[in-house]
Amino acid sequence: MIKTNTLHNKILGGEFLSLEEGMELYINTSPAKLFSLAGKIRFWINPERRVSWQTDLNVNYTNVCISGCLFCNFHCRLYENERSFTLGERELKDKTEIVKRAGGNQLLLQGGLHPHYRIEYYENMLRYLKEISPGIRLNALGPPEIAHISRLSSISIRETLVRLKAAGLDSLPGAGAEILSDRVRRIISPSKPSSSSWENVMREAHKLAIGTTATMVYGHLETIRERLEHLMLLRKIQQDKPEGTPGFRAFIGWPVQLKGTKLAERFRLSPVSALENLKMVAISRIMLPNVPHIQVSWLTIGEDLAQLALHCGADDMGSVMIEENVVSSAGASFKMDSEKMKSCIREAGFEPWQRNQDYSPAEN
Ligand code: SF4
Repeated sequence: MIKTNTLHNKILGGEFLSLEEGMELYINTSPAKLFSLAGKIRFWINPERRVSWQTDLNVNYTNVCISGCLFCNFHCRLYENERSFTLGERELKDKTEIVKRAGGNQLLLQGGLHPHYRIEYYENMLRYLKEISPGIRLNALGPPEIAHISRLSSISIRETLVRLKAAGLDSLPGAGAEILSDRVRRIISPSKPSSSSWENVMREAHKLAIGTTATMVYGHLETIRERLEHLMLLRKIQQDKPEGTPGFRAFIGWPVQLKGTKLAERFRLSPVSALENLKMVAISRIMLPNVPHIQVSWLTIGEDLAQLALHCGADDMGSVMIEENVVSSAGASFKMDSEKMKSCIREAGFEPWQRNQDYSPAEN
């Protein structure tokens, strides 16, 4: 039987746990021991008894996408039906005003893999947003979008990122990782860029000192081993980032949302249990000691479970998302405003602090 004290000392000594140690912890160790170890690592990395959160608005600038991921109800093919949209300047301006009124200063820009938009479209969008709202921070375009833009524009990933950064991109969300296993991706997201493409975009972003986050969507066709391999790959990417650059600022995992999806139609999948969600938070904290923050996805697991996750290794509650369309369209239905967020964190026994995307304190 594995001794959690030994693993604790190993991590405090600067060593990473092996895949087998992670598997043993996840499968054969009691949840109480797992959570206790994750809690210790959390306070070793973030000693203060406080939990961060932020306010942002998720702007889905287009739902047109050629990828057709089986878990996604949000996208549609170009001209397929009346649901297809691309936001114009007027609508983008409205979004900046909405987020400011709500006390936020950040937009999370994400869309589909549009078959026609090249780099210039994205440069114009980012420039326009910075022009009309110079203080706004743009956390924009996940790795699959970057890889897609680069391919469509016949320029390298590096050049794509350099040009987008110059146009106003502040940070890169870790979207589109799902499970970094091509075996699984070939089934659930057959037309999405591969896991090595996700990795390459992140490595380039880190070299350019663009801060990022890392994500995982679990609870579909992947094995526990593949989840652990995913975490180990993230740890390696983080280890290789140039010194002094932000790299992955946080990791966020969430259970796949299945309502009305093709994935649920084709496979008999059970919802992820509450205990498993908490174990995923804990194992992430333990396996990723070089990633500063573990975020809990209250939007998908709900407020009550999110509060418990703060005792299992998480130190960040993510965003009060004024608007979210992607996971909501597959069943995520929880809602939160800033007052509720603060009381939720306090109720769980922590002090809330509002942050920016880069984990600096929010100005307001
Ligand atoms: S998840 Fe993203 S890439 Fe996949 S179909 Fe939906 S919009 Fe397209």
